[in-house]
Amino acid sequence: MEGSKTDVLIIGAGPVGLFAVFELGLLDMTCHLVDILDRPGGQCAELYPEKPIYDIPGWPVITAQGLVDQLMQQIAPFKPVFSFGRMVTSLERIEHEGFRVGLDDGQTVNARVVVIAAGGGSFQPKRPPIPGIEAFEGKSVLYSIKRMEALRGHDLVIVGGGDSALDWTLNLQPVARRVTLVHRRPEFRAAPDSVNRMRALWESGDIDFRIGQVTKLDGEDGQLSTVTIREADGETRVACTRLLPFFGLTMKLGPVADWGLSLHEDRIPVDTEKFQTSTSGIFAIGDINTYPGKLKLILSGFHEAALMAQAAKRIVSPGERIVFQYTTSSTSLHKKLGVP
Ligand code: FAD
Repeated sequence: MEGSKTDVLIIGAGPVGLFAVFELGLLDMTCHLVDILDRPGGQCAELYPEKPIYDIPGWPVITAQGLVDQLMQQIAPFKPVFSFGRMVTSLERIEHEGFRVGLDDGQTVNARVVVIAAGGGSFQPKRPPIPGIEAFEGKSVLYSIKRMEALRGHDLVIVGGGDSALDWTLNLQPVARRVTLVHRRPEFRAAPDSVNRMRALWESGDIDFRIGQVTKLDGEDGQLSTVTIREADGETRVACTRLLPFFGLTMKLGPVADWGLSLHEDRIPVDTEKFQTSTSGIFAIGDINTYPGKLKLILSGFHEAALMAQAAKRIVSPGERIVFQYTTSSTSLHKKLGVP
């Protein structure tokens, strides 16, 4: 697959990776962000979107999703490129050119500078405790859905009681041959409207809903044919060609650990002048880094992004004089921001 080019490749579109686009953009650097999640916001969007945050400067209170929405608006003038639902799997230096970054779909991006804003690491789906599930993973057991059309005509068993399980039940019902939703309790941890819509589909007979647990998978060569569901009154075998478990996500350091960078207790040590790692041209900002006095706060990550951008500029445009400017008074910054 043809590789693309950018000044700065940012690994992680959490709040800190997003704000880095702003600071880099003010200094005329283009950014490409990659995140394993299907949307921006990192922990804010994935773990606590509706919780209020009280320590963002200038915002006495803002929800975590509200902050992400504001950041997306703030960086829009710089037109960053996003690759969502993609994990950065490899990182190699190319002499005199910077770095080649490999994604899990085989795509490569060449960048002069790499910024690791990977937070606590990559979000990875929790695996349900079903014996032998590994043999079906990626073929007929799917933890994320890239294309709904790929599931057309399938017998789907969706497992879980949160928003993901409910949303996919509603979205895939018109596409699948049959959808069976399995949850161990009659109560759900999902938006009430989604729960009501799911119950309506169940009552009209358009989906099946079973209170229980999937205990056994049957099939050959990674292709499922049936699953066994244990319910209060016994076991049932259900036709299933695709199993979609939504048991939440955990954070693991993941591929970051394999890039030859110095690590300290699963964090990347950086200096506090440039927030550069042990490799020149690779920076680490936000929750993923460590230094004396580090606080895992969003506002600390924002400060780190500002200083990192100054150092990144010296690599992307060597010899160019960097003029310190305020956004309030600089007409050239106003132009970049589209201020009339
Ligand atoms: P993250 O938000 O973790 O984002 C990192 C992103 O990188 C993720 O989206 C991940 O998918 C992606 N990623 C990682 N590895 C890869 C890879 N190899 N390829 C592709 N993508 C990758 N902070 C405050 O300041 N105030 C608060 O009140 C506050 N409350 C909190 C409440 C809760 C419940 C939690 C869990 C955290 C709270 N925090 C708070 C902490 C705050 O959310 C973090 O400090 C912040 O999210 C760190 O931002 P980040 O961009 O560094 O990383």
